[in-house]
Amino acid sequence: MTRRWLFGDQLGPHFLDRADQPVLMVEARGVLVRRRFHRAKAQLVLSAMRHRAAKLGDQCVYVRADSYGEALDGIAEPLSVCHPTSRAALRLVQGRGDIEVLPARGFATSTDDFDRWVRSRGRRRLLMEDFYRDTRRRLEILMDGEAPAGGRWNYDADNREPPPRSASLGVPEPAWPTEDDIDAEVRHDLDRWERDGQVAFLGSDGPRRFAATRGESLAGFNDFISHRLPGFGPHEDAMLSADPWMAHSLLSAPLNLGLLHPIEVVTRAEDAYRSGQAPLASVEGFIRQVIGWREFVWHLYWHLPKSYRTRNELQARNPLPGWFADLEAESVQAACLADALAGVRDHGWVHHIPRLMVLGNYAMQRGWNPAEVTDWFHRAFVDGYDWVMVPNVVGMSQHADGGVMATKPYAAGGAYINRMSDHCPACPYDPRQRVGRDACPFTAGYWAFLHRNRERLATNPRMSQPLSGLSRIGDLDAVLEQEADRGSSAP
Ligand SMILES: Cc1cc2nc3c(=O)[nH]c(=O)nc-3n(C[C@H](O)[C@H](O)[C@H](O)COP(=O)(O)OP(=O)(O)OC[C@H]3O[C@@H](n4cnc5c(N)ncnc54)[C@H](O)[C@@H]3O)c2cc1C
Ligand code: SF4
Repeated sequence: MTRRWLFGDQLGPHFLDRADQPVLMVEARGVLVRRRFHRAKAQLVLSAMRHRAAKLGDQCVYVRADSYGEALDGIAEPLSVCHPTSRAALRLVQGRGDIEVLPARGFATSTDDFDRWVRSRGRRRLLMEDFYRDTRRRLEILMDGEAPAGGRWNYDADNREPPPRSASLGVPEPAWPTEDDIDAEVRHDLDRWERDGQVAFLGSDGPRRFAATRGESLAGFNDFISHRLPGFGPHEDAMLSADPWMAHSLLSAPLNLGLLHPIEVVTRAEDAYRSGQAPLASVEGFIRQVIGWREFVWHLYWHLPKSYRTRNELQARNPLPGWFADLEAESVQAACLADALAGVRDHGWVHHIPRLMVLGNYAMQRGWNPAEVTDWFHRAFVDGYDWVMVPNVVGMSQHADGGVMATKPYAAGGAYINRMSDHCPACPYDPRQRVGRDACPFTAGYWAFLHRNRERLATNPRMSQPLSGLSRIGDLDAVLEQEADRGSSAP
């Protein structure tokens, strides 16, 4: 049987044809040398790879090398590999000529099904909502015959509530993994490489928070279904300073490592609804993320041209300032931004809304280069991979694609953050003020962003109302001067 090369994000049983198939795994140190990743991410990926190799035992040849090429040169037998998850890795395996490249695994929608859906659109936009409905019908997930369960496709109106008045959501904390000898060995190696000056990391080290094995992934997932899924929906867009995890699943890391399959995840979530364990709005909201957004992003990464990653429709050219790039949360006064940066520094993770409406929103308001922002997200987040970062950052968060992913920029002032979080009362700034010492950098930044892009956004019908607001602002010149003075300094 052909030896299967498993990349570090192909670690679940579904990447093998048979449980006893021979395996090759390559730990290429050059990946860490070239880019400054979050230490928690390096720890997680190496731990997950070494755990998988230990489980496979003699079945697995595990090569530690500087590069993939160097490792492959030492392998004499034929290899097969499942379609890798980045364009660079695909080029690498195809370029060698002697490796059989199989279709991708680990996703619920195949390339053929996605292409068929694209063709069915004709000239209409590729809308996530329509793709998601098509996927639910095709996979018969959360369906009652031809109709969506409960009679509605979308329960967003029941979800997306502001945070509760309490400091936490009141759901149990996630079930954290327990580190073992393999984690200790990885940590020892990371310390050594850092000491030798071979690699440098971002962020702080801490206990591993994300699943590195199939067993840990299933345990964390079952815990989520039992204790947290019921509360997922209503506050999925809210932020609480003392409760970073809220009712989020923390499944992006094990899903992206290939340790869980999305179909098993959504099937179990649907079972929880059918057995009365979780309400439909929460279950639908969660399933939409997994077989809607996640799959849509995966297929767009391959469907859109290679040049998509460097698109910069808003002509944003400013570099990322050091305090942001290096996660210096302590030098930031703005409570929401400091909290999001601290979350990334300490865990390599914050949930969707701090990513989109705090970190991404701030970067877009300040006109930071979207390719640099994408690279930063990729390196700083434990679940960051090229396929998922490029559409999410270039498209959804920075609107650098001119509206392919999202019909309007996710730009918002302090009023949005005030409504959806508990950050503002503890902040030296006031979300209602746009000029003066108390002026909220998000509120002022929002108007400066709209002014800077007023001509580029003028043809977007969804922006006509916000843009018309610009002309009603009497102190716009003062806002622009203040924000120009703020420049790249930490707010
Ligand atoms: C700027 C930006 C960058 C992001 N970068 C990543 C990334 O590198 N890796 C990543 O997996 N997700 C990314 N996301 C999507 C989303 O924020 C994370 O998947 C989610 O916050 C992970 O936490 P969770 O597992 O608790 O998710 P939950 O809130 O519990 O959601 C369930 C699952 O849905 C999936 N999901 C939801 N939205 C998306 C999406 N837009 N794209 C892909 N999957 C999605 C994830 O697998 C997630 O585990 C990004 C979003 C933004 C706005
Ligand atoms: S006032 Fe502005 S900067 Fe401060 S927490 Fe609120 S939105 Fe963030």
